[in-house]
Amino acid sequence: MYKTGIEGTERFQSPGKGNGLRAVRHFALGELVFACPAYSYVLTVNERGAHCEHCFTRKEDLFKCGKCKQAYYCNIDCQRGDWPMHKLECVAMCAYGENWCPSETVRLVARVIMKQRVTTERSPSERLLLLREFESHLDKMDSEKEEMNQADIAALHHFYSRHIRDLPDSQALTELFAQVNCNGFTIEDEELSHLGSAVFPDVALMNHSCSPNVIVTYKGTVAEVRAVKEINPGEEIFNSYIDLLYPTEDRRERLLDSYFFTCQCTECTTKSKDKAKMEIKKLSSPPETEEIQSMVHYAKNVIEEFRRAKHYKNILLLMIISFLSSLTHHKMGAIFTDTNVYMLHMMYQAMGVCLYMQDWDGAMSYGEKIVQPYSVHYPAYSLNVASMYLKLGRLYLGLEKKAQGVKALKKALAVMEVAHGKDHHYVAEVKREIEEQK
Ligand SMILES: [Zn+2]
Ligand SMILES: [Zn+2]
Ligand SMILES: [Zn+2]
Repeated sequence: MYKTGIEGTERFQSPGKGNGLRAVRHFALGELVFACPAYSYVLTVNERGAHCEHCFTRKEDLFKCGKCKQAYYCNIDCQRGDWPMHKLECVAMCAYGENWCPSETVRLVARVIMKQRVTTERSPSERLLLLREFESHLDKMDSEKEEMNQADIAALHHFYSRHIRDLPDSQALTELFAQVNCNGFTIEDEELSHLGSAVFPDVALMNHSCSPNVIVTYKGTVAEVRAVKEINPGEEIFNSYIDLLYPTEDRRERLLDSYFFTCQCTECTTKSKDKAKMEIKKLSSPPETEEIQSMVHYAKNVIEEFRRAKHYKNILLLMIISFLSSLTHHKMGAIFTDTNVYMLHMMYQAMGVCLYMQDWDGAMSYGEKIVQPYSVHYPAYSLNVASMYLKLGRLYLGLEKKAQGVKALKKALAVMEVAHGKDHHYVAEVKREIEEQK
């Protein structure tokens, strides 16, 4: 039985926000507030072979599961450790072949159900908040979300019922999927590539702010929460649930849609960064408000389509959309400056396509345009800024631009030493890359 409580913090009722986490002592910049092992997790299908399914270690010489030949491990210990979860998929993957295609949420929920069956006591991931205490916001689900929820339940039955005896009833599953949707996390690497999905109950206890005082990073399948601002006793500890690039109205819309609340943080009330984020070109005849709004609306639709395409990993669709976004880019460029966040978004997508196509020069020139405005729009310590410097630095080094490469990597390192901590293996790797240039 694990003791409740996390030293230096306490669970409390945050006015207007329900449960929350508060500091009871001082935390310095870069200090680890707490670490939380995943309650359940799953490696994303695209990263199979590059990371160990069990511990998420990234290395070259992993060996594969002899049965399904799809799961890869560091060694026999990792394989044995993973078997209670992998056995839910190993035989099914062989049986279904190419037709085996449950979504990542379905895969994660199957693992949560199995974990719940073998867990009779409070787990080390639930020192402050139990998974069954998660908010589900079932009453606020619209018909589109309800449909998705039903599709997930159907897929769970289809792909897992043979391996999980007596699946919970439909009402319990509806609630569980809703809980995982509002409280789940995606695990990302240092360049913010998606590695997998997981639940970390204690991390989910933290409320959101668009000006957060902590950042969550990952060491394998363990989440680490570090202070990115000084935190004083009595202050609430806030994490960010969303990409903070966008202006207030846009952020509020995303938060309401995915997490069902209207953010009242200082950024959302002062809107101090909105003007810079939405910068308009100085033209002889300034654009009408409606024109700007329709452009933002258009950009958001393209963004949404892109997100869906990525989700379904449809390369053709991705290509069509990247073509569309280059048109959008062109159209928006008549009104928006290159530092406008919707322009930056398009350039980020274009950079992604360049990287995918191995057009390193193209990717580099987009990265150069993005990185400066990024560091203005994002908070002082941001993983988005660090990962952009990292990608750019590695591109420079690949293109034999040594001095520029080292400079960019050092910029990334300065953020990572606070956000990831000085002893993180990602930090060690970047240091090694810099050292190798000497
Ligand atoms: Zn491993
Ligand atoms: Zn297998
Ligand atoms: Zn906010």
